[in-house]
Amino acid sequence: MSASEEALLYHSTVIELSASAVRRNIRFLKRRMGQSATFCSVIKANAYGHGIKSFVPLVEACGVKVFAVFSADEAEEVLACRTRDSHVIIMGTIDDDALAWAVENGVAFFVYGTSRLDAALQAAKKIGRQALIHLEVETGLNRMGLKDSGLNAAVRCLQAHGDWLNLEGVCTHLAGAESVSNYVRIQRQIQKFLEFRSSLTSRGAVPTFWHVASSAAALTYPETVMDMVRFGIAQYGFWPSKETELHVRKDYLKPGKRATADPLRRVISWKSRVMNVKAVGTGEFVGYGNSYLTTRPERVASVPVGYSHGFPRALSNVGNVLIRGKRCRVVGLVGMNIMMVDVTDNKEVQRGDEVVLVGKQGKREITVGSFSDLTRLLNYEVLARLCAKIPRVVVP
Ligand SMILES: *Cc1c(COP(=O)(O)O)cnc(C)c1O
Repeated sequence: MSASEEALLYHSTVIELSASAVRRNIRFLKRRMGQSATFCSVIKANAYGHGIKSFVPLVEACGVKVFAVFSADEAEEVLACRTRDSHVIIMGTIDDDALAWAVENGVAFFVYGTSRLDAALQAAKKIGRQALIHLEVETGLNRMGLKDSGLNAAVRCLQAHGDWLNLEGVCTHLAGAESVSNYVRIQRQIQKFLEFRSSLTSRGAVPTFWHVASSAAALTYPETVMDMVRFGIAQYGFWPSKETELHVRKDYLKPGKRATADPLRRVISWKSRVMNVKAVGTGEFVGYGNSYLTTRPERVASVPVGYSHGFPRALSNVGNVLIRGKRCRVVGLVGMNIMMVDVTDNKEVQRGDEVVLVGKQGKREITVGSFSDLTRLLNYEVLARLCAKIPRVVVP
């Protein structure tokens, strides 16, 4: 019995992660980014729905040693599942009272205010170990970063307490490098970051890593690569946007040659099995309410996946799944745990057949992007909503 079949003994649905796709994506991204920068794997939101526990060891096997999470609970998860001495950075939130835990475990964290620096100092002294600081500076996202006005005090504190405060990084986050409509704003942010950099350098505050780029920035603006790239979406095999994809893939086009294959591969596949098949006469409503009315005698298969698993309810009556290599449309409203699909023209379908929600079956494929085409959901959003309790299984 395969690991997926085993998972389906007790679960109605399973997510498969392709180890070879992870390797291919990371190899490509490393080559594109260049040898001298560090690859930081962003695994917030349960590794974009891929599952931190399963995804981290796959990435570690590709030689990646640095992981970035949003919150302390995710950092804790990485410490529990890492297979090497990987480094963890909290980019988002951690309570001042939990800083001692971070210091004790060598977990680095973003700092965006002087009061947080004081708290880090207290934690470091209490534990007797350096706090690892990434100073996030404000360059125009206007969300978290430290402003110019706070810089003097921060530098003074860092220099007075160099024994306890280790300036591991200075960083910022860009406001949408995946869209050319943000071009001017991004250029201003890069400029502003460079001003911070010379200002800090002239005062002797030089971190190990200057870092700015996420996937889109690294792929579109090479000057943002600097010492480290925080790769999120691209390592999972998705382009941050169609624009980014075209921008990158045009570099690999040769006149008179066929376009090369997509350098990124989807890591995730999402599967289930047909739970039941039934005949429904003409003029009947299917599922809750009255959103789907049969116009002929139909065969309807129920699939034990719903919005509680992260299958968007917005795909009611428009989404598709694959069964026996054929596309079958979702009919009626997607429920909490069950959806129905039309298998009238797919005559062999029976209980127990494999259902592909995302991925390949025979010659056909359903992409996460197709969810975005049919709804207003970003692929980031579809992935992040995948329920954490669905088992994740690694396949070659
Ligand atoms: C999510 C996130 C990233 C990764 O972004 P992608 O677009 O998924 O590559 C990088 N940096 C920060 C601060 C983030 O929050």
